[in-house]
Amino acid sequence: MLASGKPSMINIQFSRITGTKKTSTISLPVTRAKLTALLNELFGSADYRLTVKGMEITLDNEENFNKNVGLIENNTMIYVLQRMKGGSKMVDIDTQRAAILNELPDELDKVPTDGKQRECPICMVDDVCYNSCCVKMCKQCFIRTFIQCEYKFKCSICGKILDYQKFFVTSSFIM
Ligand SMILES: [Zn+2]
Ligand SMILES: [Zn+2]
Repeated sequence: MLASGKPSMINIQFSRITGTKKTSTISLPVTRAKLTALLNELFGSADYRLTVKGMEITLDNEENFNKNVGLIENNTMIYVLQRMKGGSKMVDIDTQRAAILNELPDELDKVPTDGKQRECPICMVDDVCYNSCCVKMCKQCFIRTFIQCEYKFKCSICGKILDYQKFFVTSSFIM
């Protein structure tokens, strides 16, 4: 069965722009039919755009699918994006946003805080708060503010664009 020594099943992770992550397994070779079935099972539809390592995996065309399917390896993260009508610029922004949103919670965990739980002035929930210019806020509010500010790190009080290069720790996160 495993004569070649290569695994016959690989783990793949799906990440939605909403932050939802799902992990599943798929047997090799990854085919369009198998991936479509998996998306239907996990998300109730296969009408999505998929990107892997910044490249698009096309589900509605066998030839295009085969071009990039090799990018799916064990533990690969696949971004599951809504289909969008419009130019390729929109697609790039969407992909980049998905990547940022996916990494933001983990990145926030690395940002030093005093570690004390205090009432977040925005949602009133006791949690560890991050210094964000004029206001300290919890992780959830930080992420929500970030989305509301069109994916900029902007102070919600004074409107200043924050220097997130000083805020974040991982250099790969700073784009
Ligand atoms: Zn909050
Ligand atoms: Zn401010």
